[in-house]
Amino acid sequence: MSLLTLPGLVDVHTHLRVPGGEHKEDFVTGTAAALAGGFTTILAMPNTTPPLTTDQVLEATRKKAQRFIYCDVGLFAGASPQHLNQLPRLARLTTGLKIYLNDTFGPLRVDDLPALRACFQNWPRDKMIAMHAEGQSVAVGIGLAATYQRAVHFCHISRKEEIEMIAVAKQQGLPVTCEVTPHHLYLTGADIDRLGPLADMRPHLAEQTDVDTLWVHLNTTIDCIATDHAPHTLAEKESVRPPPGVPGLETALPLMLSAVQQKRLSLERLIELMSTNPRRIYKLPAQPDTFVEVDPQARYTIANRALHTKCGWSPFAGLTVAGRLQRVVLRGQTVFEREKSGSSGKILVQPGYGRLIPS
Ligand SMILES: [Zn+2]
Repeated sequence: MSLLTLPGLVDVHTHLRVPGGEHKEDFVTGTAAALAGGFTTILAMPNTTPPLTTDQVLEATRKKAQRFIYCDVGLFAGASPQHLNQLPRLARLTTGLKIYLNDTFGPLRVDDLPALRACFQNWPRDKMIAMHAEGQSVAVGIGLAATYQRAVHFCHISRKEEIEMIAVAKQQGLPVTCEVTPHHLYLTGADIDRLGPLADMRPHLAEQTDVDTLWVHLNTTIDCIATDHAPHTLAEKESVRPPPGVPGLETALPLMLSAVQQKRLSLERLIELMSTNPRRIYKLPAQPDTFVEVDPQARYTIANRALHTKCGWSPFAGLTVAGRLQRVVLRGQTVFEREKSGSSGKILVQPGYGRLIPS
């Protein structure tokens, strides 16, 4: 078995559910899932309960993270019309600002012009603004990037018109970047028949033409693959009002390695999309002596029981993929290893081994 060595992967879009959603995921299980998926750095979203919109919540969340994370974690500040005066203070200890222009899980939402202007005026220029923007909201984001001449990163782009518009904005030299999720590359609305609420997320799954267009832009317009890891318990997903979101930390790498094997992208491009670009876009610190080892020939079927995420399920369960993660080394220390090829693998460090970004 000849192993492939990749740099530590970076996921710029995860939901670790702390504070307030610890029955779905917590810092221990979420960062264990990250390492089991090859990610040594992840950025966590602010739509928690309460949301990460004040100094006080940020402080308490950072304290908890310091004690429990296995891999390196950066936190997003959330934009909320009630707490815009807190933004400069929040910026010091977060890796970016998240603005929700469209509805999703949780109450965070900015949809009036005064609040949007305040975000762009008050958030430091050297830190990223990430946007949940769907449909015509993408045009709003591009307009703001052009007006304020500052970088905007679009989260989970999923539609043909959106990615094509971002491609034009980039051709015009506008400072915009974007990410796409594996579920929007691998699933369509037709999968809802089979998966029901387990295929419900925001943005909703799209049409085959959208998916085909994303694949076309994977080698050009798209900057990052991000998981949008958004765990909910099976009971919640099977309830009368299932919350949107699916887990993804442990399936992104094998899905993208399978695409490499099918010659849909090169291994060099996978490394750009899952490590180099996300690290550069968010100005994340380098991790010396850090790498992941993969057996590129190993084929296996994704199984719920092998997952480390607390929610314990994946919309990709039952799918056979190529490329199995064997070992993760973070700052010279083996932090994750799979001894037998069929096992789920073990975390080999204590909670708290990971570092907060910024520290
Ligand atoms: Zn998300």
